[in-house]
Order: sequence, then structure tokens, then C-alpha cells
Amino acid sequence: MVAAGGLGFTGVPGALNPSHASDLGSALSIKAAIARLKLGNERFVNGEPRHFRSAKRWRDHLVEGQNPFAVVLGCADSRVPIELVFDQGFGDLFVIRNAGNVVMDDVAGSIEYAVKHLHTKLVVVMGHEGCGAVTAAFKNRKERRTEPPELQTVLKLIEPAIAHLNPNEHDAIAKGVEANVLWSVKNMVRLQKERNRAADFSIVGAVYELQSGRVRFLDPSPEVPVR
Ligand SMILES: [Zn+2]
Repeated sequence: MVAAGGLGFTGVPGALNPSHASDLGSALSIKAAIARLKLGNERFVNGEPRHFRSAKRWRDHLVEGQNPFAVVLGCADSRVPIELVFDQGFGDLFVIRNAGNVVMDDVAGSIEYAVKHLHTKLVVVMGHEGCGAVTAAFKNRKERRTEPPELQTVLKLIEPAIAHLNPNEHDAIAKGVEANVLWSVKNMVRLQKERNRAADFSIVGAVYELQSGRVRFLDPSPEVPVR
């Protein structure tokens, strides 16, 4: 586990008091931020979501600014609404979504914005079971020739992540989803290193299970400190 410093969080997760500086989401340690996501997902899985921090009073407070405690790069798939899956409220998560949760320049730029200006320390790349983009990337280029060029660009970004997998294996898609998450994690780290950025954040991969609603953080955790 990476010790990212910060003020830590000692209260009940979710019961934040906006009047205390230490309750700012971005002040959470990496460990506390992951714990808060896991707890929220547990509530969601158990059918006991709180849907807190959405009332007008809280939204009024947020007019002053935002301190999301995590960035989540997820798939645009309509079956994976990030805030609901983690049972988090307004101002909690800085969410970026596209087909196949791939890292492109605009995605990297959005992550850097959250890290640099909002001081968010945890970045989660979350894929999901049955991802259509990953499934399409397994098709060969000839097969997908009829797809629009922009979509082909997305699929090409996924290709290297799954190149080592046999598309005929029964669990190829499941393995591909995981490999694609790790590929995005790797790409984000590589980008930071190439550009010699001294970004202070940690990045971790996860996969959402469609049936159970559970988010499985990849273990052994490829949580990578990017500094
Ligand atoms: Zn997907």
C-alpha cells in the first residue's frame, strides 16, 4: 500500500462535515479513499445505498468548489454508473468515461487536472464484465472494417492490451477486460514518466461485475505510485 501522506480520515466514511478542513475529500489518504469506495460498493451490493450528499444544502456548499477524493476512469457503458456503483454523492468522484476506459490525451489531461488542481490522490481505472469495446477489439481489423473510423481508433487503443490473449478461449473477454484495465494503468504511468511529470497520485485497477454489482479491485493490487 502506498503511503501518500495527507491528513488522513478518521471519521465515519461518508459522514463528512463541510465545515472542517480535514473533511475535504482530497485530504483522504490513498488507503482511506480505497476503503471509502469499497464500503460504498458494499452498500450498493447489499441493496442499502444511502444516496447521501445530494440534498440542496450539500449542493449549495459545493458551489464554493470541489474536493473529490478519487478520480475514476470508467467505461461509458450505461450499466456501470460510477457514482451509483460506489454509492457516492455530489462532489465525491471526478469521473471520466469513454468506451473501453482507454487513456487518450484528453483523458490524461482530465486526470492531471484533478490531481494538480483538485489535489485528488487516488486514480481508479475501472473496466467491467462483458465490455462491448473489449469484445469488439478482439475482432480482427477486416471484420470491423465497416465500423466508423473514430470507433476504430478506440479499438486500436485496446488492441495491444489483449494481443497476448487467445480470442477463442472461453474466458477471453473476462481476461481481456482485466488486461485492458492494466493497460490503461500502465499508459497513464508511462505518460507521466515520459513527460517527466512530478504528479503525486496513485493509480489502481478494478473490474465491475455486472451480475453481483461488486467492484473487484485487482489483486495483487497494481496500485502504482506515480511520482
Ligand atoms: Zn465497456
